[in-house]
Amino acid sequence: MKTQRIAEILKSGAVNTDIVVKGWVRTKRGNKNVAFIALNDGSCMANIQIVVDLAVIPEEQLKAVTTGACLRVDGKLVESPASGQGVEVQAEKIEIYGTADPETYPLQKKGHSLEFLRDIAYLRPRTNTFGAVLRIRHAMAYAIHKYFNDRGFYYLHTPLITGSDCEGAGAMFNVTTLDISNPPRTEEGKVDYSQDFFGKPCNLTVSGQLEGELGALSLGQIYTFGPTFRAEHSNTPRHLAEFWMIEPEMAFYELEDNMELAEDFLKYLIQYALDNCREDLEFMNKMWDKELIERLEFVLKNDFVRLDYTEGIEILKASGRKFEFPCEWGCDLQSEHERYLVEEHFKRPVILINYPKEIKAFYMKQNEDGKTVRAMDVLFPKIGEIIGGSEREADYGKLTARVNELGMNEQDVWWYLDTRRWGSAPHSGFGLGFERLLLFVTGMANIRDVIPFPRTPNNAEF
Ligand code: ATP
Ligand code: MG
Repeated sequence: MKTQRIAEILKSGAVNTDIVVKGWVRTKRGNKNVAFIALNDGSCMANIQIVVDLAVIPEEQLKAVTTGACLRVDGKLVESPASGQGVEVQAEKIEIYGTADPETYPLQKKGHSLEFLRDIAYLRPRTNTFGAVLRIRHAMAYAIHKYFNDRGFYYLHTPLITGSDCEGAGAMFNVTTLDISNPPRTEEGKVDYSQDFFGKPCNLTVSGQLEGELGALSLGQIYTFGPTFRAEHSNTPRHLAEFWMIEPEMAFYELEDNMELAEDFLKYLIQYALDNCREDLEFMNKMWDKELIERLEFVLKNDFVRLDYTEGIEILKASGRKFEFPCEWGCDLQSEHERYLVEEHFKRPVILINYPKEIKAFYMKQNEDGKTVRAMDVLFPKIGEIIGGSEREADYGKLTARVNELGMNEQDVWWYLDTRRWGSAPHSGFGLGFERLLLFVTGMANIRDVIPFPRTPNNAEF
């Protein structure tokens, strides 16, 4: 007989039919006549109750049915007399696939701290919290593809290994097959990368944007959605060394269009979560963040503020607030500044635009004033920066001049500059950090808790 998933059974299971369920034991209780097993198979938050008549299945066999054990249960789906659940399974046969010794099973008890669970990241998806987070994570990934597909964007796979070290978004991880304890050397004593796998130094990508732009200038509208790598030494609750990023890139979009897309996109994803992940969101709201659902609904209902960086600095200076890092025109905003603007001053998301060119990447479109570029960062409550983007410099002369001004080597980005030589077009794009989105949507406070296997300094065990 076909195994049914618990989510399916609870939604539409027909009572008084034979049934097979398979899953992991959450709890077992009972008396000398009957045992109740709460079984979870990961398909949803809810467990299904298995009722075992000890006259049918001997108690001896139930000894190994402990928290964490994996079972197959054959039985009948019946209406449940207990309140709070519509149906339960009357067990006729139980097969134990895998036992879980109560003496050693780390999740024997409930209510572990998130820190403890991080140390056993390989088991934490079996908890209610991480089950919920990972189901929401899946739903968001699906919604991202759906959003872009429905609007005529193409999914472009940009490379993870890159020969360019000027993507400029962060420190990179080197990719090499050379023996690092004894690398080949040139006559001057430098490492001879011509003997390396790719014949030159290569790194893991920090962003798919530069290649994404090539896609926009041919397919019109593309997006990337893949892992990116940054050797971030700062141990913050918002940075991972390996994270996933969504980067749409659109020909013929100016900064205005880019902002509209970013706002519409974020609202769509939040609405999608509210419509499709209700049970999991309610759990997160109850357990971890009492204002979660309210905050999600609040963002949906309000227009994002659009504000010039220069005005933002004036607001911060006039705030009378003592920041850890004082700010002046020209400084890069810290998360404390971003959160002040969003949470205290405007009390809603802010899109900050027209940043000083010195603190932004070389490819951003230069404004007439000679000082600022058409950058946009979307700032969210609790998170700070969730999106970074810009209109791109489309003018070959200006882009090349900026590359030289910054002391970069034209040869390192020759192919990128070339796109402005033939059929250049106004275009824009942005990057959304997938885990930052998930922090916002799940209400979790630490980015290590919204990815199955977090990669941070000194942490790559599993
Ligand atoms: P931050 O100032 O927070 O370090 P950034 O300016 O380096 O961000 P961008 O290069 O603009 O970020 O990257 C685009 C998006 O990717 C950011 O808005 C953020 O959502 C996400 N992001 C950046 N770095 C990380 C990281 N180390 N871990 C997780 N997400 C990140
Ligand atoms: Mg950064």
